[in-house]
Amino acid sequence: EIRKDPVNPSHATFNLFVQAQTCKDVKHHFAALCRQLDINPKDFSCFYVTLKERLNYWKAKALWTKLDKRAAHPDYKQGKACIKNKCLVLGAGPCGLRTAIELSLLGAQVVVLEKRESFSRNNVLHLWPFTICDLCGLGAKKFYGRFCTGSLDHICIRQLQLVLLKVSLLLGVEVHTGVEFQGLIEPTGDNGWMAKLQPGSHPAATFQFDVFISAGGGRFVPDGFKHKELRGKLAIGITTNFINRHTAAEAQVAEISGVARIYNQKFFQELLTETDIDLENIVYYKDDTHYFVMTAKKKSLLKKGVIKQDYSNAEELLAPANVDHEALYRYAHDAAYFSTGGKLPDLQFAQNHAGQPDVAMFDFTCMQRAEHASLVRERRGKKLLMCLVGDCLVEPFWPLGTGVARGFLASFDTAWMVRSWGMGVPHLNVLAERESIYQLLSQTTPENTSKNYAGYSIDPKTRYKRVNLSSIQTNQVRTVILYLLNRDLNPSQLLPIVQALKLLKWCQKHTLGYENVNVEDFTQSWRSGLALCALIHHFKPQLIDMSSMDVSSVVHNNQLAFSILEKELGIPPVMSASDLANSGQIDKLSMVLYLTQVQSAFTMPAK
Ligand code: FAD
Repeated sequence: EIRKDPVNPSHATFNLFVQAQTCKDVKHHFAALCRQLDINPKDFSCFYVTLKERLNYWKAKALWTKLDKRAAHPDYKQGKACIKNKCLVLGAGPCGLRTAIELSLLGAQVVVLEKRESFSRNNVLHLWPFTICDLCGLGAKKFYGRFCTGSLDHICIRQLQLVLLKVSLLLGVEVHTGVEFQGLIEPTGDNGWMAKLQPGSHPAATFQFDVFISAGGGRFVPDGFKHKELRGKLAIGITTNFINRHTAAEAQVAEISGVARIYNQKFFQELLTETDIDLENIVYYKDDTHYFVMTAKKKSLLKKGVIKQDYSNAEELLAPANVDHEALYRYAHDAAYFSTGGKLPDLQFAQNHAGQPDVAMFDFTCMQRAEHASLVRERRGKKLLMCLVGDCLVEPFWPLGTGVARGFLASFDTAWMVRSWGMGVPHLNVLAERESIYQLLSQTTPENTSKNYAGYSIDPKTRYKRVNLSSIQTNQVRTVILYLLNRDLNPSQLLPIVQALKLLKWCQKHTLGYENVNVEDFTQSWRSGLALCALIHHFKPQLIDMSSMDVSSVVHNNQLAFSILEKELGIPPVMSASDLANSGQIDKLSMVLYLTQVQSAFTMPAK
């Protein structure tokens, strides 16, 4: 069959939309398509169906087949599961957009806000097999022909955003760029929850919603959430992109998918000897650009003049005034040149959003992780479900390439949560289930998640091999809500205080009489580690020898208690032994959650 070029103008516009390579062009061609087909993109609930009816174009059909298949999944209940919900998504990064797609498939009205006007990140994301399968299922190859061809398992951030933006728009998601979210506005009068935006006169400022998804990227912490800082040893990451001219010579150069130092000492030694560049690891992906990400040692950065002065504090060390950009460019260039055996001809930097060589240095010494993935706020009888996804939930270490894979898992988990919310499941149960699932996220790997990628859905059971949807109980979450939202107390929420007090009494009762133990609170009293050891000894004397304990070996005591509780009772530690040893670092909420688990483990009736 010979296909003719489209004569219908909407067909041509659809082609332009599918091929568009900038955020602006995508939006422009989409608006033109809506005008030509006389469809109002605000009619979100019937948008996709009307579009399919009116755009009777063979090239679009293959895409409809894919999207229809996804939409037909029973989880979405024919797009009716969340028909009454209105969701505001903050951030059009990969995770914000991926979540928006799921929420619209569930039937919710979805508005996405993005402060940037353009998608400009060249950097490349590693994709786990399930994310490739997921994106193919959304038609990624139709929008971006080179998507994961052959054995490629990566995509640049900009392309991923473009694919997801296009799918979002086709499914009726409203995406606004160039608008900054500045905070939530509490309900007043008849109004529900709204957002304070910049510019304030933006039409989305009148949108009232009952679900707020924060996908604002690393370090973005919406009000009410707490982040935990995981401080590791100093880690300085450098990313750089070179122009890919797609020549045969470039095509032949092999990618480097993670040469960890321990595996290839010889390579790093040669690099050091020949160039004075000292790296922990390096990754090279051939994508729209030649992309490199590496972790560099401070000493070599100082020696090569990239960092001007040595400071012990990473922030001061990497402050713009302390970095010589020309030296950084040389460092990145030489590392890239050496690691590809000098085979990439004419390495020229690609440009970043500011028109400068795309080389950047980042500090990964402290990684943020949200303590909770979700919470519920209530004002004037109007409830708001707040959820974190993507980097603002768990910040990834880029050289490991976990960002988008764990990001998508959390997007699906969040959609599953919004589904329960929309279906009227009591909010404590909704939160408890979400927190139970969140506990698994940081441990996920391609190996320990299900290999049946085609079977992945928003239902966590299809993805996580071992998931206990109720490892966190509603009474624990109740305490969470209470502690986080003490401004919102109403009589029905007083119960958690009582429960926390009961927990304290229980701890006091079972640690009574132990030397150097005096439980009075959920912080200080636990510092020496002896109170935890005493609790263990009270219930399982055979597991611990109290007479050998030394009140001053604080870290050791805590370590011992944590490892016994983890090994014997399966309770993962909530903080590091040294955090607990440092009373300023003890988080009351985490301690309450931890002790609640200890209490249930010890008081569970024997089977
Ligand atoms: P992001 O992709 O960070 O998206 C968040 C979005 O929210 C952004 O578009 C931001 O503009 C928007 N936003 C933030 N605040 C507001 C607000 N108040 N109002 C409106 N919009 C807002 N990962 C790698 O694996 N390798 C890399 O080399 C790499 N390089 C990166 C370079 C940069 C500059 C950044 C920011 C991230 C990089 N990442 C990298 C991380 C990777 O991009 C993320 O893991 C992945 O994109 C998933 O992130 P996300 O969707 O949660 O957030």
